[in-house]
Amino acid sequence: MTDQTMQFQAEVTRLLHIVTHALYSQKEIFLRELISNASDACDKLRFAAQTDDSLWGGDTDLKVTLQADKSAKTLTLSDNGIGMNRDELISNLGTIARSGTGEFLAGLSGDNAKDMALIGQFGVGFYSAFMVAGKVEVISRKAGEDQAWHWVSDGSGQFTVGEAERSGRGTTIILHLREGEEEFLEPERLRRIVKTYSDHIALPVVLQDGDNSETLNAASALWARAKSEITEQQYKDFYHHVAHAFDDPWLTLHAKAEGKLDYALLLFIPGTRPHDLFDPARRPQLKLYARRVFITDRCDDLVPAWLRFLRGVVDSADLPLNVSREMLQNNPVVARIRQAITRRVLSELEKKASNDAEAYAKFWETFGAVLKEGLYEDREHRDQLLKLARFRSSTRDGWVSLDDYIAAMKEGQNAIYVINGDQIEQLKRSPQLEGFRAKGVEVLLLTDPVDDFWLSVVPDYAGKPIKSATRAGDDLDAVKSEASDKPQEDKIEGAALGTLIAALKQILGDAVKDVRESKRLTDSAVCLSAAEGDMDMHLERLLRLHQKLDRVSARILEINPSHPLIKALAARATQPGATDALTDAAQLLLDQARLVEGEPLADPQGFAARLARVMEKAL
Ligand code: ADP
Ligand code: MG
Repeated sequence: MTDQTMQFQAEVTRLLHIVTHALYSQKEIFLRELISNASDACDKLRFAAQTDDSLWGGDTDLKVTLQADKSAKTLTLSDNGIGMNRDELISNLGTIARSGTGEFLAGLSGDNAKDMALIGQFGVGFYSAFMVAGKVEVISRKAGEDQAWHWVSDGSGQFTVGEAERSGRGTTIILHLREGEEEFLEPERLRRIVKTYSDHIALPVVLQDGDNSETLNAASALWARAKSEITEQQYKDFYHHVAHAFDDPWLTLHAKAEGKLDYALLLFIPGTRPHDLFDPARRPQLKLYARRVFITDRCDDLVPAWLRFLRGVVDSADLPLNVSREMLQNNPVVARIRQAITRRVLSELEKKASNDAEAYAKFWETFGAVLKEGLYEDREHRDQLLKLARFRSSTRDGWVSLDDYIAAMKEGQNAIYVINGDQIEQLKRSPQLEGFRAKGVEVLLLTDPVDDFWLSVVPDYAGKPIKSATRAGDDLDAVKSEASDKPQEDKIEGAALGTLIAALKQILGDAVKDVRESKRLTDSAVCLSAAEGDMDMHLERLLRLHQKLDRVSARILEINPSHPLIKALAARATQPGATDALTDAAQLLLDQARLVEGEPLADPQGFAARLARVMEKAL
């Protein structure tokens, strides 16, 4: 087959343009990226060889070798990992495979200095080689295949692929250094870079100089070392490597257990949300090792889905080395490790929550919505999760726990009140909260989609029922209030109110479930509420939005007997011909209540016509 020249994907060309024009001071990170790739390639080989022993081909001594040639001005990295065949070279090194790079490109501002800072944060994987090299050659042979392939590019829009020779499997990358980048040929410089960025890599990084070879990194699995020997920076570098992340971890959890269950964990909670956090697959992303041998990063049972934000490594001595992915399903060892991880992570979170509320709040803002999925689907940990949960509140700023809430309950108050909606600010202005506010009763404001679901399965906390503030009910009557009961002050007398209610019911018919005097409104004229036993209004809206439901339930229309409009309507209701006179007003009251609630209008044209008639009369 003759050599073939191809175009890079447009995004790659853009990326390469930035990288090659980089006046970036930390160009040395290219080595971190290439070593990281070599390490991944060796992990992949180990995994593949578990089911096909022949892939080893007698060469089990996995490593990366660096060779500097001062006369040719080349730096060569060579690994004996999985290797790439022709198709893989083309797709892996010609398109953007990794997720981080997409984010990187999205974050670009066009401002050179800012974009350079982003390179430092993100790293740009393989393509960072072009920061120091004017030409990059890759010679690769895939494990189990005989043909090797050659890939070459100067980073300016195209690359060429052709046949090559290579004595065994693996990948060799030859960097033809640009003028002025000769420092990357100096052993001392290479030694320092590897020590700084790649010490934690479990694979030996060997500097080869003629017959001399020197291992530059510690080359032992970081998680197997003693905590006391590991610096903060090493943990951080490892996190960046294992999570393909660029932020600082919020929490680092390094633990070992021996005895009934033998495992080591090095887990991280990221400082920022991974981009795929709400991916529908909800996959855990931990890497599973058995006695330092990489098994898989696709073990779905290793942690519950509501801990899928965890990153890092689990190494177990209780799993056989030749375990297949299928064997990991319903595996009792995996189940016990899952238990242990869940227990440890929850206990770390509890510690943080009680020792450093501010830091914990930051965690909650980032991952609270995911943790709350556990309230819904994990009965076993529900109580622990309820204690860890934090909420926004109608009466105070910041985050409130359920225990905080209970401590602030009013005399005579018996339930924990919540309200669901889309936005905090909108909820705070909700008419349903007026009565609660008047009595100083706190309401928790819930805006995550998952809230509707866990509320349907968690009836109470610490013996207090959890209730939606939008439910009908006379709960507020029982609550002692310090202020005078202002809402009831100058309301209309019972008979007139009764007549109005009867008229409204007659006019509105099936459009409402009931019409009632409200105990909760102080400023607004009307609001809707859900009858006891009916579906929560916000949940119903959400289900409609996702096409899981196509009905609109009739609600209770509550009217405020001290509102001037209601008083005027009540006065009119007692005069002859009331039903005709009140028809438009009754419909408009219901429309108004629906609008405030965020419900769609049943009949927008009818609404416009009624509004026009009423305005005309008023003028
Ligand atoms: P990432 O490592 O995040 O996937 P990179 O740009 O660093 O992104 O690498 C792109 C892809 O190229 C890798 O995912 C891998 O499939 C392939 N690759 C790079 N280096 C090697 C290597 N030394 N051996 C085998 N495959 C490699
Ligand atoms: Mg990489």
